[in-house]
Amino acid sequence: MNASLFPWSVNLLQFVIVVYNYVAFVFKYHYYPFKPLFAFYMLVVYKSLSKMSYLNRADPGFLSPLSDTVDTQQHPTRFCPYCNCNFPLRSKHVRSLNKCVATFDHQCNLLNTCIGEKNRFTFIVFLVWELFYHFLSGLIVIFCNPNFEHLKVTDFWADKINSFMTVPISFFFFIILFVLFVFSLSTAFNGETQYENSKGQLLFYIKDFGDDCFDDGFYVNMANIIRVQKQEKFEIWNPRKGEHQGIKKKRSAFERICDNEYYSCC
Ligand SMILES: [Zn+2]
Repeated sequence: MNASLFPWSVNLLQFVIVVYNYVAFVFKYHYYPFKPLFAFYMLVVYKSLSKMSYLNRADPGFLSPLSDTVDTQQHPTRFCPYCNCNFPLRSKHVRSLNKCVATFDHQCNLLNTCIGEKNRFTFIVFLVWELFYHFLSGLIVIFCNPNFEHLKVTDFWADKINSFMTVPISFFFFIILFVLFVFSLSTAFNGETQYENSKGQLLFYIKDFGDDCFDDGFYVNMANIIRVQKQEKFEIWNPRKGEHQGIKKKRSAFERICDNEYYSCC
């Protein structure tokens, strides 16, 4: 799979600008500011880029018609007309790759990769590092540019055009990634994928069993994501028959905060 150049270039650009500002500050004022913070920033850059590189290369959970077909007598399955196979529930055929991905979550356009059963938890961890990365990039650049010369603010930033670029980029990416992070975490805690969340009743098993048919509670849902990513075989999902049918779904704490008697976000 081709790596998407866009996030690589943005991340590297920010890293170069932040280091440049830091080094320029050291040379100009002979002062090494926020050393522990800068060391932490280096760690964050390393973690963020290595997770991104891993996600670009890693298998999101491609199913093989030769080995991953599921017996329809024993388990409910999803038939893929393109692969001509019965695969575990929650999988989806990705047309651009012409393959089925187990527990398909979403197609990440920033990374140009699929997020599925074998890389979903890594993706959430990646988002945490990226949030730190963009937050610290903006923060260090702002504090590496103290207006010691007492210039007019506009003149000061005009003189430091590289910093002027970094701060809005950091802010922009921080906001976008924060929204994505909250959405990823909320679907993960609710025991659904982003794909299931967006398709809802259009998926036959959600229609038949309800959108909480894989919901085992906040913490078990998150533990499941880690467990299925680490296990060798693919998970064969079985929705809870009847148990939740017709019963109004118990809403998560997150939904209860966003949706109450005064205000509804849904
Ligand atoms: Zn398929």
